[in-house]
Amino acid sequence: ITAVDLMNATFDRIEATEDKVGAFITVSKEEALALAKKLDEKGIDESNVLAAMPIGIKDNIVTKDIKTTAASKMLEDFIPIYDATVMNKVYESDMIPVGKLNMDEFAMGGSTETSYFKQTKNPWDLTKVPGGSSGGSAAAVAAGQVPISLGSDTGGSIRQPAAFTGIVGMKPTYGRISRFGLIAFASSLDQIGPFTRTVKDNAYVLNGISGYDANDSMSAKTEVPDFTAKLNQDIKGMKIGVPKEYLQEGVAEDVKNAVLEAIETYKKLGATVEEVSLPHSKYGIAVYYIIASSEASSNLQRFDGIRYGYRSPEAKSLDDLYVMSRSEGFGMEVKRRIMLGTFSLSSGYYDAYFKKAGQVRTLIKQDFEKVFNDYDLILGPTTPTTAFNLDENMDDPLTMYMNDILTVPVNLAGVPAISIPCGFSNGLPIGLQLIGKHFDEATIYQAAYAFE
Ligand code: GLN
Repeated sequence: ITAVDLMNATFDRIEATEDKVGAFITVSKEEALALAKKLDEKGIDESNVLAAMPIGIKDNIVTKDIKTTAASKMLEDFIPIYDATVMNKVYESDMIPVGKLNMDEFAMGGSTETSYFKQTKNPWDLTKVPGGSSGGSAAAVAAGQVPISLGSDTGGSIRQPAAFTGIVGMKPTYGRISRFGLIAFASSLDQIGPFTRTVKDNAYVLNGISGYDANDSMSAKTEVPDFTAKLNQDIKGMKIGVPKEYLQEGVAEDVKNAVLEAIETYKKLGATVEEVSLPHSKYGIAVYYIIASSEASSNLQRFDGIRYGYRSPEAKSLDDLYVMSRSEGFGMEVKRRIMLGTFSLSSGYYDAYFKKAGQVRTLIKQDFEKVFNDYDLILGPTTPTTAFNLDENMDDPLTMYMNDILTVPVNLAGVPAISIPCGFSNGLPIGLQLIGKHFDEATIYQAAYAFE
């Protein structure tokens, strides 16, 4: 099989399923076929497991000459003039991008329903959401359109859709993967990561896209290990902590039971599993929504109708141009975040909200550090429930936000975490979350692989 054959098969599959799933905003068939042809001519390097692999890209990762919208009207016609660093890594490892995937607008949401363009459906049940914000990335892999996709995770946007669609999604350590060319949502939390169907594939992709980049000021100079190195080591003696807060109120019975079963499996595999506590995780949602919205309100100032993006055709003055372009270009959820963020940063409220949130963030981080003094990994559910109905939570932002309760502490602490499938309830997948120490993705993969 040639790379061109593989691409043709991929696009056949996308065409056959896309009407139902709606994962893509842009399919870049011509570009993919041209790359595949080049690869065939050059000869595929058999030692490179990623060579010729089709990959889907979340539409907030900028791609040179390929439309990048962040699922916003604001960037409906935006064609970047450069590639994100992660795209350079994708090309260097000979993977072939096949298109740009749907998401919540500017990655704000948990269901992919805030996209300006379309709804994406959960391939397991087309009446359910695929999760979000990287819902297109998750659905495309779950529906077998692509074996690999990239997403971004600011407060759960890789892990939650992975859980809802029964696949593997990794949010690496903050700093592990360059954010250069990722359209910024909340800069102190944003991290790119891979979706795959298996743990091993996931580790291979992380090998390909990690590493220091001078273009991201928060990029870590830490060495990148081979993330597959520990996959075949058994986990006897591994110490796993289960935070009692992660199995409490709000977590549905079916999810809880699947996680309790997973704990039994880990014990059988020889791990020690014990209850631990992350006492400040109850403040996670409040802290996250203050910090993420504050950073977003600042990051989104660049969309002013002048430099690039949507410009209102009706404006008669400069002030009008700003106000009208932003009023017409941004959707409801994005405006809500900008208002929340501007409020918590404004004088008179800064100390009570933004500053306080930063202080509590430190406490949340310390909770993790304390547990990791004695444990190798933390285990819990990824989400409180399985995938919910399309439209169910759209007019109830607080309920939507509460869904992130088990994922946001990880971003606030900057640690890595994966979601892997651990069962089904009423035909819908359940996700198991494994959280690791800073830069210790290898141990997460080891434990995830042992479970799989
Ligand atoms: N659901 C969360 C939010 O709406 C997380 C989003 C994300 O990780 N990008 O902010």
